[in-house]
Amino acid sequence: MNLDHLNPPQRAAVKYLDGPCLVLAGAGSGKTRVITQKIAYLITAAQMDARNIAAITFTNKAAREMNERVGTLLPPDKLRGLTVSTFHSLGMRILREEARHLGYKPQFSILDSGDQWKIISDILTTTDKQLIRSTISRISMLKSDRVSPDKAMLSADSEGELHLAKLYRQYQDTLQAYQAVDFDDLIRLPVDLFAQFEEVRAKWQQRLRYLLIDEYQDTNNTQYELLKQLTGSSGKFTAVGDDDQSIYAWRGANVENLALLKTDFPSLEIIKLEQNYRSVARILKCANAVISNNPKLFEKTLWSDLGIGDPIQVIEAKSEEAEAEMVAMNMLNHKFLNNTKFSDYAVLYRGNHQARIIETQLREHRIPYVMAGGQSFFDRAEIKDVLSYLRLIANEDDDPAFIRAITTPKRGVGNVTLERLGAYANQRQISLFTAAFEEGFIHQVQPQQYEALHTFCEFINRMQPRAQREDAGSVLVDLLQAIDYETWLYDSDDPKPAEAKWKNVQDFVGWVKKHGEEKGKNLIEVTQTIALITMLEGRDEEEVDAVRMSTLHASKGLEYPHVFLIGCEEDILPHANSIESGMVEEERRLMYVGITRAQRSLTISYCGKRRRAGEWQIVEPSRFLRELPPDEIRVIGRLAPDKGQNQVTKTEGRATLAGLMNKLGSM
Ligand code: ATP
Ligand code: MG
Repeated sequence: MNLDHLNPPQRAAVKYLDGPCLVLAGAGSGKTRVITQKIAYLITAAQMDARNIAAITFTNKAAREMNERVGTLLPPDKLRGLTVSTFHSLGMRILREEARHLGYKPQFSILDSGDQWKIISDILTTTDKQLIRSTISRISMLKSDRVSPDKAMLSADSEGELHLAKLYRQYQDTLQAYQAVDFDDLIRLPVDLFAQFEEVRAKWQQRLRYLLIDEYQDTNNTQYELLKQLTGSSGKFTAVGDDDQSIYAWRGANVENLALLKTDFPSLEIIKLEQNYRSVARILKCANAVISNNPKLFEKTLWSDLGIGDPIQVIEAKSEEAEAEMVAMNMLNHKFLNNTKFSDYAVLYRGNHQARIIETQLREHRIPYVMAGGQSFFDRAEIKDVLSYLRLIANEDDDPAFIRAITTPKRGVGNVTLERLGAYANQRQISLFTAAFEEGFIHQVQPQQYEALHTFCEFINRMQPRAQREDAGSVLVDLLQAIDYETWLYDSDDPKPAEAKWKNVQDFVGWVKKHGEEKGKNLIEVTQTIALITMLEGRDEEEVDAVRMSTLHASKGLEYPHVFLIGCEEDILPHANSIESGMVEEERRLMYVGITRAQRSLTISYCGKRRRAGEWQIVEPSRFLRELPPDEIRVIGRLAPDKGQNQVTKTEGRATLAGLMNKLGSM
């Protein structure tokens, strides 16, 4: 195999097969490229069967991109059976096949965050958002640290911890009753399974003989455990990562896992890469300077030979609106002067709430854009309605889906009946669907109500064998017709939104058809896949010529020629919560991730004041801006008023904007 388009250490990493291998290197140094090339190398030079190789990435998008890249290296017949997936979808696959060992049926449901919210708020009997949010995240932390409810009970050493353990227990019992799992369970349950059933583990070790893991720095303890279980003592894996890009501690990621690898696998071969192939030198200097303010786990240096590049622009805008306008104007101007495409630009931000104003401005200037990491297509009400039917057909014990489906469209089952059903099911510890058929319950309701309830349940029962047998798309089309969802949409909404919603449903049908055909999945498998997509990042937009808008978190691993990094202010980046809880280092890594997405140009901006709770407040530029090397940046606005060396006067800033307006006017 030709490895010419790799540098020597990359080549060494690809060819190293004697034991566990870790590629530890900074952003843009070709870590992901090592993984794709190594997959091809394993299949061609090492003659492994693609079925025995699994590459694990962090997001669905990354998995898709990796599949594409490998697809350009090898013909499809060589790649048949190759696993390229996220930890969660690998977990889902294992769980689907082995569910019975854990008392689940293979058609288990995967709860979305809305369902999870509802369950926790019911258990807590509260609507206090803060309390619900913190309970969910504390349970999630326990799960990602592999603490079972029993273990949490035993190890609780305060009232508070005991209380949390009890909530966790109740929550888990509810999930089991629904035959449902949450996101964290997709990793935790396979790990428990492998720990309990040696023969099951051996089977999967036989199947997945070589693992490749991208973005290793963001694995949590459970994911690491899964990796260890799968590779066993053979240690046949290649992990690539960058400790400076660890940005998921808040979700339980543990960057110490990098160091642990060396302890757990003493023969670990560590390979470092230093040449960056992504960014011009100035961008790299900025990235290196910022991250050098963090204590080092591993020493790394990065250089590139892509030229020096233009100075990084650091721009102060008067307000959020002015910032958004600046982004739109600068982008149009830059595009005009450089004859670029819209898809060469990305706008990155710390939090989703920052996107709205940018969207407004982009729309106003007729700049097409697509958003990543925002509200998912699958999160729309109309899609969730339809999904609730699919979930229920897959798993009739899925109570959240039951409630949604039976009330959308309304089918003559009143709230009183549903409440009685709920109480009965709760008392008997069975699902709503099962309860609906029990004698004890039937006597409690009016015959008419009972009739309506049964018609519904029987409809679901009738669909079930079809969902197993027939292709996903046609079952879905029939389903929509049977429930007459279109009419319901028009009856319950104004024509315009109804029309848009129905179009979304049609798009969804198209997606299901395509996905079912491509992957040969039946409706149940498609349904489980959707749950995963929803939880991870939302549907990927088609490749169109449009500006990319993304949160910093969702931009990991990606690259764009020209990047606008907005809202670089104290309390946003670094985020106020992180400042309070002493997590500024993680925020700095986030800044580093943002800077290193840029290939050729980078514009960083912040506002002088911002509206908070209806009041204008003066805001401070981010401390990270002061860490940028003065020689590599061009500041427009106030950055270091006390020193003043980088300062350009306000009039100059305005003049630049005015000049721009002029140019645009003559376009
Ligand atoms: P990140 O840390 O952001 O995930 P990475 O280390 O995974 O970055 P890649 O995305 O693999 O880096 O590579 C960055 C860019 O450099 C890509 O466009 C890739 O195609 C290119 N690249 C990587 N290695 C080489 C090489 N040896 N020669 C030329 N281009 C390369
Ligand atoms: Mg990468």
